[in-house]
Amino acid sequence: MPKASPGAKKAGSEDCRVVIVTDLDGSLLDYNTYSCEEVAPVVAELKQAAVPIIFCSSKTWAEQDIYRHQLGIKDPFIVEDGGAIFVEPGYFPFSYDYHREVGGYQVIELGKPYKEIRRILGQIKSKSGLNMRGFGDMDAAEISRITGLDLESAELARRRSYEETLVLNGSDTEIRTILGRIEEAGLTWSRGTRFYGVGGGSNKGRATRLLLSLLHKKFGIIKSIGIGDSFNDLPMLAEVDVPVLVEKATGGWLKTPLHNVIRADGVGPRGWVWAVKELVSVQV
Ligand SMILES: [Mg+2]
Repeated sequence: MPKASPGAKKAGSEDCRVVIVTDLDGSLLDYNTYSCEEVAPVVAELKQAAVPIIFCSSKTWAEQDIYRHQLGIKDPFIVEDGGAIFVEPGYFPFSYDYHREVGGYQVIELGKPYKEIRRILGQIKSKSGLNMRGFGDMDAAEISRITGLDLESAELARRRSYEETLVLNGSDTEIRTILGRIEEAGLTWSRGTRFYGVGGGSNKGRATRLLLSLLHKKFGIIKSIGIGDSFNDLPMLAEVDVPVLVEKATGGWLKTPLHNVIRADGVGPRGWVWAVKELVSVQV
């Protein structure tokens, strides 16, 4: 049975700032519809309680921007599986290093540029003849067909800056071979809710660690709750105080070596709401 850790005190009742770091696809968002409707009332309560909600997703900044506006979230967010951290100017009351400005955000870059990743993947493909296709090889219509995203969202999903999304449809041996070649070329890979992400050394954990250190500087003592559903969430869950896995759309929870993980009662957003009600002192 899903259960909060024994003796877990509800965060928010203590003298510290609760921070939620959350995956999107299959966690905060419904796996099939990509809707954030189910979590909206709880998010409103969290905002009321001044709980920062940090998106930490393989989605691009433009995709995440839509949900931030829908839910009225102003906190920093992690894009493309940790490729970069986007921050609204003025959010931190101190100066910090960032690399450039995009879409009105200050961007801390952690990953290799997308073009470089595509170039290396192209070399692997032409040398090996392996069957590998990424979002960069597809138009919005094809991405829409395989993801269920509408055309406009699919277009935003393909405008990537730090990570390529690979769709691998082969035998386990073929897929293992491709992933091996990716590692040999000095790139890193991870498996998300639907596809594989290939990046240049960044991951959700590295970005989470850096962002939590900035949040600590802003808020003092913080208690971080991380919520995810897939393999690519594990580095993020390893960095937070309270790691939570929601049930996967395919049933059950991801197998993980993390000993302190809380298995939320419910698939995706339903489990997300369950976890917040269980762990945070807000009126929901
Ligand atoms: Mg996910």
